[in-house]
Amino acid sequence: MIENDTLSKVLYIDLTKKKFQIKDRKDLFEKYLGGTGVATQLLLEECPKGIDPFAPESPIIFAVGPLTGAFPLASKTSAMFKSPHTGDLGESHAGGRSAIAIRMAGYGAIVIKGKSEIPIYLSITSGKVQFKNATTLWGMKDGSIAAKVMRQTEKGEGLRAIFRIGQAGENLATFANVTTETYRHFGRMGLGAIFGSKMLKGIVISGKQAIEVSNKKEYRALYDKIYDMATESPLMKKYHDVGTAINIKSLNSANALPVKNLQQSSIDTIEAVTGEEIAKHHLARRVACAHCPVACIHLAYLREPYDDDPYFYKTTPVCYDFELIYALGTMVGITEPKAMLKLIDIVEQVGVDAMSMGVILSWITEMFEKNLITKDDLNGISISWGDAEGYIKLVKNVTKPTTDFLKACSSGVSHASSIYGGKEFAMSFGKNEMAGYHTGPAGYLGFLLGARHSHLDNGGYSIDQKELVNTEVTPKEVVDKLLEEEAIRQILSSIAVCFFARGIYDLKLVSEAIKLLGFDMDDKKLFEIGKQIHLKKYQFKIREGFSIDKLEIPERIYETNDPTGKITKEFINEGLDYAKNLIN
Ligand code: SF4
Repeated sequence: MIENDTLSKVLYIDLTKKKFQIKDRKDLFEKYLGGTGVATQLLLEECPKGIDPFAPESPIIFAVGPLTGAFPLASKTSAMFKSPHTGDLGESHAGGRSAIAIRMAGYGAIVIKGKSEIPIYLSITSGKVQFKNATTLWGMKDGSIAAKVMRQTEKGEGLRAIFRIGQAGENLATFANVTTETYRHFGRMGLGAIFGSKMLKGIVISGKQAIEVSNKKEYRALYDKIYDMATESPLMKKYHDVGTAINIKSLNSANALPVKNLQQSSIDTIEAVTGEEIAKHHLARRVACAHCPVACIHLAYLREPYDDDPYFYKTTPVCYDFELIYALGTMVGITEPKAMLKLIDIVEQVGVDAMSMGVILSWITEMFEKNLITKDDLNGISISWGDAEGYIKLVKNVTKPTTDFLKACSSGVSHASSIYGGKEFAMSFGKNEMAGYHTGPAGYLGFLLGARHSHLDNGGYSIDQKELVNTEVTPKEVVDKLLEEEAIRQILSSIAVCFFARGIYDLKLVSEAIKLLGFDMDDKKLFEIGKQIHLKKYQFKIREGFSIDKLEIPERIYETNDPTGKITKEFINEGLDYAKNLIN
């Protein structure tokens, strides 16, 4: 590392005692770079084995990487914690200004433990942490209002980020998220509920440190090269123009888009919610994470009349992307854009992971349709596919539960189906609700084996689409490819670049870039470190009770056509058996 680089500073905060200290952890950053690598090691150090995720001693860890603030698309912060949703490794990444603010405040990582007696938020600047009373912000219906109050109250110099939770986090819904800069999220696995359990409403962090590089001339040349690669890439141009929502049309035509709780993998009425059509009729503007020339974040304007004056309209910006259109659109049978945007907006207000919420809503609908639950279980709400108003009521009732059934739903479909039945169509993998890719067996092996059970862990869906549709690939070959890709992605999330830039940042380029920040590691060494980080994550999971043998697989994946035909149990089981020897 470069001498005196503040990246190696770790800020430890104790919410119980309202104290903090800063330690130099060069040892961790020199070994694991930053981001996910350092956060995994800190999690192993700080999280007591078998702890209740909501116990005060359960830690929250944020970490950024050496490229943060120095190179394009290095926008992500890794958050690690024990997940209240899956019971083992909790990990989510967010962009916005989260990473640059932590780095500019003079830290590479932050560890938060303890529990406050009253709601608070943290104000973090260089060398200083203040514990602020957030009693008046607790219980607000819309989490964005709390963020506005923090923004106005806290002055903060330099680059600033604001993290906050909504009502779902306060109520400990195990899939509650943490929002940063309104449109970016630590989305998956329940970080928001951990904030809630600690009475932590939010964090404001800001700073204006400088970043040193070892050779300014070489740095400028490499920066320009990466910038040009990002702006000239056709894929990045698509992400800028239409966003990830561009994939809706192609996945629907390929029979790969989950519809109505995956009873179908395609829907005839898709046109109005394709990325292209939403951009044409509803797009208001695009925004970008800090240091990103791509700007893939798309906002639509939702225009609605006020209840008491039909000629007076309120206009709300609503962020949409592929996952949101899948989870709160096709998965629940909604293909009318305005209705879908309204549902997305409510999910944003309460502060939950949209993918989990969409899968929970679709599972509830099927349970209701099959008469396995009644209106009483739903607090008097009658629900059917495509009923956006009904879903809006359900979102509020799941995140502030009004019946035992809805309370069970606030811990996810794996938990609710273990009490009420319907396991065969409870679409979660490793207890994490599925992403919108019914692409074939590699996608599902990817969900099952990924350390955080996310489509982003290893991109199994891409093996389906690029290889399995055309050629014979054995389950063992699929698993080998998944594990290799996951090791590479550990490096990307440790230097904390956006995964959309994975086609740009190969390990050779990463080696060149980190050299200018004082790290001397070639591509082979980086790959070895990636493998080690991946195994450490599995070490944590297994320590907390995860086992491949205990994975539950809903029958539904074998019943619904996908682009490779139909998935067989033999393929999935052979892949899992083989993986056991490698990671169990
Ligand atoms: S590509 Fe999108 S998500 Fe990635 S850094 Fe840029 S704006 Fe953020």
